[in-house]
Amino acid sequence: MIAEIIAIGSEMLTPYRQDTNSLFLTERLNELGISVAFKTVVGDNLDHLISVARTAVGRADLVIFMGGLGPTKDDLTREAVAAALAIELKRDNNLVTELYKRFAERRLQMPENNTQQCDVLAGAVVLTNTKGTAPGQWLETEFEGKARMVALLPGPPHELHTMWDTEIMPRLREKMPPAAIATRVLKVAMMGESAVDLRAAPIYKKYPNVETTVLAGQGQVEFHLRATAATKQEAQAEVDRVADELEDELGDAVFSSHGESLEEIVSYYLQMRNAKLAVAESCTGGLVAERITSVAGSSRSFLGGAVVYSNDLKTLFADIPPLMIEAHGAVSREVAVALAENIRELCSADIGVGVTGIAGPGGGTEEKPVGLVYVAVSNGHKNEVVQRRFFGDRERVRRWASQLALDMVRRMLM
Ligand code: ATP
Ligand code: MG
Repeated sequence: MIAEIIAIGSEMLTPYRQDTNSLFLTERLNELGISVAFKTVVGDNLDHLISVARTAVGRADLVIFMGGLGPTKDDLTREAVAAALAIELKRDNNLVTELYKRFAERRLQMPENNTQQCDVLAGAVVLTNTKGTAPGQWLETEFEGKARMVALLPGPPHELHTMWDTEIMPRLREKMPPAAIATRVLKVAMMGESAVDLRAAPIYKKYPNVETTVLAGQGQVEFHLRATAATKQEAQAEVDRVADELEDELGDAVFSSHGESLEEIVSYYLQMRNAKLAVAESCTGGLVAERITSVAGSSRSFLGGAVVYSNDLKTLFADIPPLMIEAHGAVSREVAVALAENIRELCSADIGVGVTGIAGPGGGTEEKPVGLVYVAVSNGHKNEVVQRRFFGDRERVRRWASQLALDMVRRMLM
Protein backbone atom coordinates (compact mmCIF):
# COMPACT_ATOMS: atom_id res chain seq x y z
CA MET A 1 0.00 0.00 0.00
CA ILE A 2 1.30 3.45 -0.81
CA ALA A 3 0.32 6.71 0.78
CA GLU A 4 0.33 10.34 -0.26
CA ILE A 5 0.33 13.20 2.21
CA ILE A 6 -1.02 16.59 1.25
CA ALA A 7 -0.34 19.62 3.44
CA ILE A 8 -2.72 22.46 2.77
CA GLY A 9 -2.00 26.08 3.69
CA SER A 10 -0.50 29.02 1.82
CA GLU A 11 1.71 29.79 4.83
CA MET A 12 3.74 26.66 4.05
CA LEU A 13 4.61 28.05 0.64
CA THR A 14 6.40 31.00 2.28
CA PRO A 15 9.94 30.93 3.66
CA TYR A 16 8.58 31.15 7.22
CA ARG A 17 6.52 28.00 7.82
CA GLN A 18 7.17 24.38 7.14
CA ASP A 19 5.01 21.32 6.86
CA THR A 20 6.16 19.35 9.89
CA ASN A 21 2.97 17.31 10.26
CA SER A 22 3.99 15.06 7.41
CA LEU A 23 7.11 13.98 9.31
CA PHE A 24 4.92 12.83 12.18
CA LEU A 25 2.56 11.04 9.79
CA THR A 26 5.39 9.38 7.88
CA GLU A 27 6.81 7.94 11.08
CA ARG A 28 3.43 6.56 12.10
CA LEU A 29 2.69 5.17 8.64
CA ASN A 30 6.08 3.47 8.45
CA GLU A 31 5.38 1.80 11.76
CA LEU A 32 2.47 0.10 10.04
CA GLY A 33 4.60 -0.87 7.06
CA ILE A 34 3.02 1.77 4.82
CA SER A 35 5.48 3.84 2.84
CA VAL A 36 4.91 7.39 1.77
CA ALA A 37 5.40 7.71 -1.97
CA PHE A 38 4.42 11.36 -2.42
CA LYS A 39 4.18 14.52 -0.35
CA THR A 40 2.61 17.68 -1.64
CA VAL A 41 2.31 21.16 -0.18
CA VAL A 42 -0.44 23.27 -1.71
CA GLY A 43 -1.81 26.73 -0.95
CA ASP A 44 -5.38 27.67 -0.06
CA ASN A 45 -6.54 27.85 -3.67
CA LEU A 46 -9.50 25.80 -4.91
CA ASP A 47 -8.24 25.05 -8.42
CA HIS A 48 -4.81 24.03 -7.18
CA LEU A 49 -6.32 21.90 -4.46
CA ILE A 50 -8.63 20.07 -6.85
CA SER A 51 -5.76 19.40 -9.21
CA VAL A 52 -3.56 18.02 -6.40
CA ALA A 53 -6.43 15.93 -5.01
CA ARG A 54 -7.19 14.41 -8.40
CA THR A 55 -3.59 13.44 -8.99
CA ALA A 56 -3.30 11.95 -5.52
CA VAL A 57 -6.39 9.73 -5.63
CA GLY A 58 -5.25 8.59 -9.05
CA ARG A 59 -1.93 7.25 -7.77
CA ALA A 60 -2.08 6.46 -4.05
CA ASP A 61 -4.15 3.95 -2.08
CA LEU A 62 -4.26 6.17 0.96
CA VAL A 63 -4.47 9.95 0.64
CA ILE A 64 -4.17 12.12 3.72
CA PHE A 65 -5.22 15.76 3.49
CA MET A 66 -4.41 18.02 6.41
CA GLY A 67 -5.36 21.62 7.02
CA GLY A 68 -7.97 23.83 5.43
CA LEU A 69 -10.83 22.40 7.48
CA GLY A 70 -11.59 25.53 9.45
CA PRO A 71 -14.51 27.93 9.16
CA THR A 72 -12.95 30.63 6.98
CA LYS A 73 -13.22 31.35 3.26
CA ASP A 74 -9.78 29.93 2.60
CA ASP A 75 -10.62 26.57 4.17
CA LEU A 76 -11.37 24.70 0.97
CA THR A 77 -10.30 21.12 1.58
CA ARG A 78 -13.80 19.61 1.83
CA GLU A 79 -14.97 21.35 -1.31
CA ALA A 80 -11.86 20.39 -3.28
CA VAL A 81 -11.94 16.71 -2.31
CA ALA A 82 -15.65 16.51 -3.11
CA ALA A 83 -15.00 18.01 -6.54
CA ALA A 84 -11.99 15.81 -7.26
CA LEU A 85 -13.82 12.60 -6.32
CA ALA A 86 -17.14 13.80 -7.79
CA ILE A 87 -18.81 13.14 -4.44
CA GLU A 88 -21.53 15.24 -2.89
CA LEU A 89 -21.02 17.33 0.23
CA LYS A 90 -23.85 17.08 2.71
CA ARG A 91 -24.41 19.27 5.72
CA ASP A 92 -24.57 17.13 8.85
CA ASN A 93 -27.24 18.69 11.05
CA ASN A 94 -26.17 16.81 14.15
CA LEU A 95 -22.76 18.39 13.79
CA VAL A 96 -24.33 21.81 13.40
CA THR A 97 -26.30 21.36 16.60
CA GLU A 98 -23.23 20.18 18.47
CA LEU A 99 -21.22 23.12 17.23
CA TYR A 100 -23.91 25.56 18.39
CA LYS A 101 -23.86 23.84 21.78
CA ARG A 102 -20.09 24.16 22.02
CA PHE A 103 -20.27 27.89 21.44
CA ALA A 104 -23.22 28.29 23.80
CA GLU A 105 -21.33 26.48 26.59
CA ARG A 106 -18.69 29.17 26.32
CA ARG A 107 -21.41 31.84 26.16
CA LEU A 108 -20.34 32.81 22.66
CA GLN A 109 -22.47 33.53 19.64
CA MET A 110 -21.41 31.23 16.80
CA PRO A 111 -20.49 33.06 13.60
CA GLU A 112 -22.58 31.69 10.71
CA ASN A 113 -19.54 30.64 8.62
CA ASN A 114 -18.70 27.97 11.22
CA THR A 115 -21.39 25.72 9.82
CA GLN A 116 -19.28 24.96 6.74
CA GLN A 117 -17.20 22.78 9.05
CA CYS A 118 -20.21 20.48 9.17
CA ASP A 119 -20.18 19.68 5.46
CA VAL A 120 -19.40 15.99 5.11
CA LEU A 121 -18.39 13.98 2.04
CA ALA A 122 -21.15 11.53 1.16
CA GLY A 123 -20.24 8.16 2.67
CA ALA A 124 -17.58 9.55 5.01
CA VAL A 125 -17.31 8.89 8.74
CA VAL A 126 -17.01 12.05 10.85
CA LEU A 127 -13.98 12.07 13.16
CA THR A 128 -14.35 13.92 16.44
CA ASN A 129 -11.84 16.67 17.08
CA THR A 130 -11.24 16.62 20.83
CA LYS A 131 -8.70 19.45 20.64
CA GLY A 132 -10.46 21.88 18.31
CA THR A 133 -13.66 22.59 16.41
CA ALA A 134 -13.04 21.34 12.88
CA PRO A 135 -14.04 17.65 12.65
CA GLY A 136 -12.02 15.28 10.49
CA GLN A 137 -13.38 12.83 7.94
CA TRP A 138 -12.58 9.26 6.86
CA LEU A 139 -13.79 7.95 3.56
CA GLU A 140 -13.42 4.56 1.94
CA THR A 141 -14.39 4.82 -1.69
CA GLU A 142 -13.54 3.91 -5.25
CA PHE A 143 -11.82 6.11 -7.77
CA GLU A 144 -11.60 4.97 -11.37
CA GLY A 145 -12.27 1.42 -10.25
CA LYS A 146 -9.63 1.35 -7.54
CA ALA A 147 -10.16 1.19 -3.78
CA ARG A 148 -9.12 4.37 -2.03
CA MET A 149 -8.89 5.54 1.56
CA VAL A 150 -9.09 9.27 2.13
CA ALA A 151 -8.54 11.13 5.39
CA LEU A 152 -9.25 14.81 6.04
CA LEU A 153 -7.43 15.99 9.14
CA PRO A 154 -7.02 19.36 10.87
CA GLY A 155 -3.79 21.30 10.33
CA PRO A 156 -2.84 22.39 13.88
CA PRO A 157 -0.28 19.77 14.98
CA HIS A 158 -1.78 18.93 18.38
CA GLU A 159 -5.23 18.41 16.83
CA LEU A 160 -3.78 16.28 14.06
CA HIS A 161 -1.68 14.11 16.40
CA THR A 162 -4.62 13.27 18.62
CA MET A 163 -7.00 12.56 15.79
CA TRP A 164 -4.42 10.38 14.08
CA ASP A 165 -3.73 8.26 17.12
CA THR A 166 -7.35 7.81 18.21
CA GLU A 167 -9.21 7.68 14.89
CA ILE A 168 -6.94 6.83 11.98
CA MET A 169 -4.34 4.47 13.46
CA PRO A 170 -6.89 1.86 14.64
CA ARG A 171 -8.62 1.90 11.25
CA LEU A 172 -5.39 1.39 9.35
CA ARG A 173 -4.10 -1.23 11.75
CA GLU A 174 -7.17 -3.33 10.99
CA LYS A 175 -6.45 -3.17 7.27
CA MET A 176 -2.75 -3.96 7.41
CA PRO A 177 -1.28 -7.42 7.91
CA PRO A 178 0.73 -7.49 11.14
CA ALA A 179 4.13 -6.09 10.33
CA ALA A 180 7.34 -5.74 12.25
CA ILE A 181 10.13 -3.38 11.36
CA ALA A 182 13.84 -3.70 12.04
CA THR A 183 16.47 -1.04 11.42
CA ARG A 184 20.26 -0.83 11.51
CA VAL A 185 22.63 2.08 11.00
CA LEU A 186 26.20 1.56 9.77
CA LYS A 187 28.68 4.41 9.68
CA VAL A 188 31.86 4.76 7.67
CA ALA A 189 34.58 7.29 8.45
CA MET A 190 36.95 9.24 6.26
CA MET A 191 35.78 7.99 2.89
CA GLY A 192 33.95 10.02 0.24
CA GLU A 193 30.31 9.22 -0.48
CA SER A 194 30.89 8.12 -4.06
CA ALA A 195 33.87 5.92 -3.16
CA VAL A 196 31.79 4.20 -0.47
CA ASP A 197 28.74 3.85 -2.66
CA LEU A 198 30.72 2.37 -5.52
CA ARG A 199 31.50 -0.59 -3.27
CA ALA A 200 28.27 -0.67 -1.30
CA ALA A 201 25.62 -0.25 -4.00
CA PRO A 202 26.14 -3.69 -5.63
CA ILE A 203 25.40 -5.20 -2.20
CA TYR A 204 22.33 -3.30 -1.07
CA LYS A 205 20.83 -3.31 -4.58
CA LYS A 206 20.67 -7.11 -4.33
CA TYR A 207 18.19 -6.77 -1.49
CA PRO A 208 15.25 -4.61 -2.58
CA ASN A 209 13.31 -5.75 0.51
CA VAL A 210 15.70 -3.82 2.68
CA GLU A 211 15.23 -0.11 2.21
CA THR A 212 18.71 1.46 2.21
CA THR A 213 19.27 5.19 2.55
CA VAL A 214 22.78 6.62 2.20
CA LEU A 215 23.45 9.86 4.07
CA ALA A 216 26.77 11.66 3.81
CA GLY A 217 28.17 14.60 5.70
CA GLN A 218 30.68 15.78 8.29
CA GLY A 219 33.36 13.29 7.40
CA GLN A 220 31.20 10.20 7.46
CA VAL A 221 28.82 8.19 5.35
CA GLU A 222 25.84 6.48 6.99
CA PHE A 223 23.77 3.55 5.78
CA HIS A 224 20.27 3.46 7.22
CA LEU A 225 18.81 0.01 6.67
CA ARG A 226 15.20 -0.87 7.26
CA ALA A 227 13.15 -3.97 6.61
CA THR A 228 9.53 -4.90 7.17
CA ALA A 229 8.46 -8.51 7.65
CA ALA A 230 5.81 -10.59 9.34
CA THR A 231 7.89 -10.99 12.50
CA LYS A 232 10.59 -8.98 14.22
CA GLN A 233 13.10 -11.83 13.82
CA GLU A 234 12.55 -12.03 10.08
CA ALA A 235 12.89 -8.28 9.66
CA GLN A 236 16.03 -8.30 11.82
CA ALA A 237 17.54 -11.15 9.82
CA GLU A 238 16.98 -9.21 6.60
CA VAL A 239 18.72 -6.03 7.77
CA ASP A 240 21.49 -8.01 9.47
CA ARG A 241 22.27 -9.87 6.25
CA VAL A 242 22.78 -6.59 4.35
CA ALA A 243 24.70 -5.02 7.26
CA ASP A 244 27.05 -8.01 7.49
CA GLU A 245 27.78 -7.96 3.77
CA LEU A 246 28.44 -4.23 3.85
CA GLU A 247 30.82 -4.68 6.77
CA ASP A 248 32.66 -7.45 4.97
CA GLU A 249 33.08 -5.26 1.92
CA LEU A 250 34.05 -2.02 3.65
CA GLY A 251 36.15 -3.62 6.38
CA ASP A 252 37.48 -1.48 9.19
CA ALA A 253 36.31 1.73 7.51
CA VAL A 254 33.00 0.83 9.20
CA PHE A 255 33.36 2.30 12.68
CA SER A 256 29.81 1.85 13.85
CA SER A 257 27.49 -1.05 13.19
CA HIS A 258 24.58 -0.01 15.42
CA GLY A 259 24.39 3.73 14.97
CA GLU A 260 26.95 4.82 17.56
CA SER A 261 28.84 8.07 16.97
CA LEU A 262 32.59 8.04 16.34
CA GLU A 263 33.27 9.64 19.73
CA GLU A 264 31.18 6.96 21.45
CA ILE A 265 33.12 4.23 19.69
CA VAL A 266 36.48 5.81 20.59
CA SER A 267 35.39 6.16 24.21
CA TYR A 268 34.24 2.57 24.24
CA TYR A 269 37.52 1.25 22.77
CA LEU A 270 39.59 3.34 25.21
CA GLN A 271 37.69 1.87 28.16
CA MET A 272 37.89 -1.63 26.78
CA ARG A 273 41.69 -1.33 26.49
CA ASN A 274 41.91 0.57 29.75
CA ALA A 275 43.84 3.29 27.90
CA LYS A 276 44.07 7.01 28.74
CA LEU A 277 43.94 9.68 26.07
CA ALA A 278 45.35 13.23 25.94
CA VAL A 279 45.18 15.75 23.09
CA ALA A 280 47.14 18.79 21.88
CA GLU A 281 45.02 20.71 19.38
CA SER A 282 45.87 23.68 17.26
CA CYS A 283 43.45 24.26 14.33
CA THR A 284 40.62 22.27 15.93
CA GLY A 285 40.75 24.49 19.02
CA GLY A 286 39.51 21.79 21.38
CA LEU A 287 36.96 20.17 19.09
CA VAL A 288 38.46 16.70 19.55
CA ALA A 289 38.29 17.13 23.33
CA GLU A 290 34.77 18.54 23.07
CA ARG A 291 33.57 15.55 21.10
CA ILE A 292 35.16 13.00 23.41
CA THR A 293 33.84 14.70 26.54
CA SER A 294 30.32 14.80 25.10
CA VAL A 295 30.19 11.04 25.78
CA ALA A 296 28.96 10.17 29.27
CA GLY A 297 31.61 8.29 31.23
CA SER A 298 34.50 9.63 29.15
CA SER A 299 36.26 10.74 32.34
CA ARG A 300 37.36 7.13 32.79
CA SER A 301 39.60 7.36 29.74
CA PHE A 302 40.03 10.99 28.71
CA LEU A 303 42.58 12.97 30.73
CA GLY A 304 42.49 16.32 28.93
CA GLY A 305 45.18 18.21 27.08
CA ALA A 306 45.92 21.63 25.67
CA VAL A 307 44.65 24.00 23.05
CA VAL A 308 47.93 25.26 21.59
CA TYR A 309 46.86 27.73 18.97
CA SER A 310 49.84 30.10 19.06
CA ASN A 311 53.42 29.02 18.47
CA ASP A 312 54.37 30.24 21.94
CA LEU A 313 51.85 27.98 23.59
CA LYS A 314 52.93 25.05 21.45
CA THR A 315 56.30 25.52 23.12
CA LEU A 316 55.02 26.41 26.59
CA PHE A 317 52.30 23.73 26.93
CA ALA A 318 53.53 21.02 24.60
CA ASP A 319 57.32 21.40 24.65
CA ILE A 320 57.61 22.01 20.92
CA PRO A 321 61.14 23.36 20.28
CA PRO A 322 61.00 26.82 18.64
CA LEU A 323 63.67 25.61 16.25
CA MET A 324 61.37 22.85 15.02
CA ILE A 325 58.64 25.37 14.25
CA GLU A 326 61.17 27.60 12.53
CA ALA A 327 62.56 24.77 10.44
CA HIS A 328 59.30 23.03 9.40
CA GLY A 329 56.51 25.48 10.18
CA ALA A 330 53.75 25.09 12.79
CA VAL A 331 51.67 23.18 10.24
CA SER A 332 53.96 20.26 9.58
CA ARG A 333 54.33 16.55 10.01
CA GLU A 334 57.13 17.07 12.57
CA VAL A 335 55.09 19.39 14.78
CA ALA A 336 52.02 17.14 14.66
CA VAL A 337 54.09 14.13 15.79
CA ALA A 338 55.84 16.13 18.50
CA LEU A 339 52.48 17.44 19.78
CA ALA A 340 51.15 13.87 20.04
CA GLU A 341 54.28 12.46 21.70
CA ASN A 342 54.80 15.33 24.09
CA ILE A 343 51.22 15.66 25.28
CA ARG A 344 51.14 11.91 25.89
CA GLU A 345 54.23 12.13 28.08
CA LEU A 346 53.27 15.39 29.82
CA CYS A 347 49.86 13.97 30.75
CA SER A 348 51.10 10.43 31.47
CA ALA A 349 48.59 9.16 28.94
CA ASP A 350 48.72 5.97 26.89
CA ILE A 351 47.73 7.69 23.67
CA GLY A 352 48.48 11.25 22.59
CA VAL A 353 46.89 13.15 19.70
CA GLY A 354 48.38 16.16 17.90
CA VAL A 355 46.41 18.25 15.40
CA THR A 356 47.77 21.14 13.37
CA GLY A 357 46.46 22.67 10.17
CA ILE A 358 45.15 25.66 8.27
CA ALA A 359 41.38 25.98 8.72
CA GLY A 360 41.13 29.09 6.54
CA PRO A 361 39.74 31.09 4.92
CA GLY A 362 43.00 33.08 5.25
CA GLY A 363 46.52 31.94 6.09
CA GLY A 364 47.13 29.58 3.19
CA THR A 365 50.20 29.63 0.96
CA GLU A 366 51.07 27.80 -2.22
CA GLU A 367 53.14 25.33 -0.29
CA LYS A 368 50.68 25.06 2.62
CA PRO A 369 47.19 25.70 1.27
CA VAL A 370 43.98 26.24 3.25
CA GLY A 371 42.60 22.88 4.37
CA LEU A 372 46.00 21.26 4.87
CA VAL A 373 45.92 19.31 8.13
CA TYR A 374 48.37 17.01 9.90
CA VAL A 375 47.09 14.66 12.55
CA ALA A 376 49.40 12.46 14.60
CA VAL A 377 48.65 9.74 17.14
CA SER A 378 51.29 8.31 19.44
CA ASN A 379 51.15 5.37 21.83
CA GLY A 380 54.78 5.29 22.97
CA HIS A 381 55.65 2.39 20.70
CA LYS A 382 54.68 3.88 17.39
CA ASN A 383 53.51 7.11 15.84
CA GLU A 384 51.00 7.44 13.05
CA VAL A 385 50.82 10.67 11.14
CA VAL A 386 48.49 11.57 8.30
CA GLN A 387 48.55 14.55 6.00
CA ARG A 388 45.21 15.47 4.42
CA ARG A 389 43.83 18.37 2.47
CA PHE A 390 40.20 19.08 3.27
CA PHE A 391 38.02 21.28 1.10
CA GLY A 392 35.26 23.59 2.20
CA ASP A 393 34.83 26.32 4.77
CA ARG A 394 36.50 26.70 8.14
CA GLU A 395 33.84 24.69 10.00
CA ARG A 396 34.11 21.83 7.55
CA VAL A 397 37.90 21.68 7.68
CA ARG A 398 37.83 21.68 11.49
CA ARG A 399 35.12 19.04 11.63
CA TRP A 400 36.93 16.74 9.19
CA ALA A 401 40.21 17.23 11.08
CA SER A 402 38.52 16.18 14.35
CA GLN A 403 36.95 13.23 12.54
CA LEU A 404 40.35 12.14 11.22
CA ALA A 405 41.90 12.45 14.69
CA LEU A 406 39.18 10.35 16.34
CA ASP A 407 39.33 7.78 13.55
CA MET A 408 43.10 7.45 13.90
CA VAL A 409 42.73 6.86 17.65
CA ARG A 410 40.10 4.22 16.91
CA ARG A 411 42.39 2.47 14.43
CA MET A 412 45.31 2.54 16.83
CA LEU A 413 43.13 0.86 19.45
CA MET A 414 41.79 -1.84 17.13
P1 ATP B 1 -7.89 23.37 10.26
O1 ATP B 1 -8.87 24.32 9.72
O2 ATP B 1 -7.91 22.07 9.57
O3 ATP B 1 -7.89 23.27 11.74
P2 ATP B 1 -6.27 25.20 9.07
O4 ATP B 1 -5.38 24.97 7.93
O5 ATP B 1 -7.53 25.90 8.75
O6 ATP B 1 -6.50 23.89 9.83
P3 ATP B 1 -4.70 27.18 10.04
O7 ATP B 1 -5.29 28.24 10.90
O8 ATP B 1 -4.41 27.45 8.62
O9 ATP B 1 -5.63 25.97 10.19
O10 ATP B 1 -3.41 26.58 10.72
C1 ATP B 1 -3.38 26.38 12.10
C2 ATP B 1 -1.95 26.18 12.53
O11 ATP B 1 -1.51 24.90 12.16
C3 ATP B 1 -0.99 27.17 11.88
O12 ATP B 1 -0.01 27.58 12.80
C4 ATP B 1 -0.40 26.33 10.79
O13 ATP B 1 0.86 26.82 10.36
C5 ATP B 1 -0.31 24.98 11.44
N1 ATP B 1 -0.23 23.95 10.41
C6 ATP B 1 -1.12 23.69 9.45
N2 ATP B 1 -0.70 22.69 8.66
C7 ATP B 1 0.51 22.31 9.14
C8 ATP B 1 1.47 21.33 8.75
N3 ATP B 1 1.26 20.52 7.70
N4 ATP B 1 2.60 21.22 9.47
C9 ATP B 1 2.81 22.02 10.52
N5 ATP B 1 1.95 22.97 10.94
C10 ATP B 1 0.81 23.11 10.26
MG1 MG C 1 -4.75 26.72 6.78
